[in-house]
Amino acid sequence: MPQNQQRRCRRGLAIALAGCFAMSAAFADEAGAVRAFNRAKRTEPELFVFLKHMPKGGDLHVHVSGAAYSDYMLDAAIAKGLTFDPSTAQFGTDPSKTPAKQLLTDNGLLYRFLDAASMRGWMGGGQSGHDHFFETFGIFGAALGARQRMDVLEEVIARAKSQNEQYMELMTGVTPSQANTAYFQNLPDSTDMPHALSVLRPRLVKLLQEAKPYLDQMEKLGKRLGQSSLTSPANPMTIRYIWSCNRLSTNDEFFAQAAAGIYLAAHEPRIVAMNMVAPEDHPLSRQNFARQMKIVDFLWQRLGRPNLTLHAGELTPSISPPETMKDRIRKTIEVGHARRIGHGVSIAWEDDAEGLMAKMKKEGIAVEICLSSNESILGVAGIHHPLHLYMAHGVPVFLNTDDEGVSRSTLTLEYVKGALEQGLSYTDLKRMARNAIEYSFLSGESLFEGRDYRRPKPAFHGCRRKGWVPSRRAQALMARSDKLRVQLRLERAFVDFESRFP
Ligand SMILES: [Zn+2]
Repeated sequence: MPQNQQRRCRRGLAIALAGCFAMSAAFADEAGAVRAFNRAKRTEPELFVFLKHMPKGGDLHVHVSGAAYSDYMLDAAIAKGLTFDPSTAQFGTDPSKTPAKQLLTDNGLLYRFLDAASMRGWMGGGQSGHDHFFETFGIFGAALGARQRMDVLEEVIARAKSQNEQYMELMTGVTPSQANTAYFQNLPDSTDMPHALSVLRPRLVKLLQEAKPYLDQMEKLGKRLGQSSLTSPANPMTIRYIWSCNRLSTNDEFFAQAAAGIYLAAHEPRIVAMNMVAPEDHPLSRQNFARQMKIVDFLWQRLGRPNLTLHAGELTPSISPPETMKDRIRKTIEVGHARRIGHGVSIAWEDDAEGLMAKMKKEGIAVEICLSSNESILGVAGIHHPLHLYMAHGVPVFLNTDDEGVSRSTLTLEYVKGALEQGLSYTDLKRMARNAIEYSFLSGESLFEGRDYRRPKPAFHGCRRKGWVPSRRAQALMARSDKLRVQLRLERAFVDFESRFP
């Protein structure tokens, strides 16, 4: 960038920030917010109102398809003229079935769909929460497909933005379907991994080329959300993407999926990581785990070593043999190179769980906690949940929604659960909101020294004071770190929020 342009850019940044800070109320004392939080804990609605406005940092564990509410899928199925099969609770195009619009006048059909497509009204019956939860994805498939991709993303991001979230990492498609079809055609035998990778390499280059314009299109959603773009840290909400591969795929498919995810995460800044999805307790997940970790290790070493966040330990003794749980999280970190763990519910069953948690603390490997999802799928809640075990051992944790449409939740509700069911304090929740950015995969240096939130970098010592204007040094640091800019936004959001409670 030419020097004069750089100067203009810095001046623009300073003016924008000065404006933002001028709007901030006087420097607030956290103690007022703590008192208001403790008063609000008297009832759930009072706490909900308090927590809805609380800045929440980020939601980093979000499957977009599971985050969409089935009510909007029904609207789309009606608009598209789809038909409904009550025997399967699914929408399709078979003209002999019931027109979708009939669900609006037939409550039996309506509840058949809505209840089957989410945990709405799930009362147990003959089915476990685990089975019902995972079956919803097959039920709502066609109805979700009736919606525009951008509309689904808008629903999920707008909902998060309305709850004072600053950042999201979304598990969603990042490449056009025709590019995927070409990439996954005639897959090489992954028994010989070096050979399989050599076959896939030119396809990876092509896939990356196709991903860029696809993601550029998605940027336009920023305007619909009142922002200049979706991914710039200058906006109130900043988005990054995570590629998902499926544990239940064949070895060859899994190899190709993992290669794509790792390659894209290493080469496209908007795609920040790869993850692995599908029920972890499935026999195929158990049988293929060692092989899949080897594949991830092989590809990660050769394709740029990007960040990985992997589901691990979404298990309990009621759905898994104890032997599976004794090293699932450790292997996911030590062989699979996970920098974050999704769920981690079975931590207590790990061999040397304390040693493993000490390692996670030391290496900054955070756990994405998903309370509603764990309760629905695993029946793990209250004192059965390992959240406090992690916290007691200093492992960084933060709250996430996982599949809020299926769970019928929001991040605010996860915070409510955290407070009422896990006994988290205001300062616990505030630390988690900060963890969600500190342990995010945003690029650049942190705002804080040594991950200590009491110690912002020297150029930002005054950043929690009214009227603070960034120095040239602060602006230079901001210009080269997306993470720092989002962290600064979060700190300013806390100043605004806490000033409501003098
Ligand atoms: Zn998940």
